[in-house]
Amino acid sequence: MPNMLAEGVRWFDDWFAVREVAPGIHAIGEPRFHQINWNYLVIGGQRALLFDTGPGVRDILQVVKALTTLPVTAMPSHMHFDHTGNITRFPDVALADLPVLRAFERDGLMQEPGNLFLGHYEGMKWTPFRVSQWWPPGHIIDLGGRRLEVIHTPGHAPDHVALWDAEANVLLAADFLYLGALYAQVPGSDLAQYEAGCDVLLRRLDAGSRIFGAHGMPDAEGRHDAPQLARPDLEALRDTLEKLRNSGETPSRVEVNERMYLLIGPHAYEAWQRAK
Ligand SMILES: [Zn+2]
Repeated sequence: MPNMLAEGVRWFDDWFAVREVAPGIHAIGEPRFHQINWNYLVIGGQRALLFDTGPGVRDILQVVKALTTLPVTAMPSHMHFDHTGNITRFPDVALADLPVLRAFERDGLMQEPGNLFLGHYEGMKWTPFRVSQWWPPGHIIDLGGRRLEVIHTPGHAPDHVALWDAEANVLLAADFLYLGALYAQVPGSDLAQYEAGCDVLLRRLDAGSRIFGAHGMPDAEGRHDAPQLARPDLEALRDTLEKLRNSGETPSRVEVNERMYLLIGPHAYEAWQRAK
């Protein structure tokens, strides 16, 4: 069998691959899943945070337990099925405190959030779960000696958040930025918000910042690694969106740079068109 993993990435079992991308930040990949999800475990001095729980095809909690003995909070970047699978395995779940999510909380349980889940794409079922913490945009998650800022970054999805570790100079961008096809064709995608989100993130980043996304892509040799991007990739996305807005055109696909392109649904153009 050819080695599917890049140097520095190791198999946890026959499904999950792990790489420590920065001290205490572990990327947990699922290269055999067709969406090639990468989830991130951030370990502080007192607590740990799992950012995204994957599609739930296999049990990611076993990987987390092998990497830390600290109490773990699970926080999905957004409610899409490939970021919230198996979330019911985690007793402590935090969600971004956004009206668009609060609307689906009943009796302390998070119910299926309509068009924000999309599990019907792949036959995935929603199981309601208890939300123990609601963290508003701007909230600083304190893991003990490690702090993460919750940044609301709609564009791909209205409930999407990114996490920013200023000290490590690492942005966990989830589905806002990764390698390959960026999705602005799913329900709730909005190019005006995508463009605004680029500016919000760019204000925090410098030339040395590292960005990790939630979907990977094998290299030319077919090897998988945690999808790492940098400030120029985010600048390219912002410039592409600005050019597209000024052009008035509404293509369904646009190249961003040699690493990324955008798939765009007609609804994603609506906010721009209303603003005209
Ligand atoms: Zn998504």
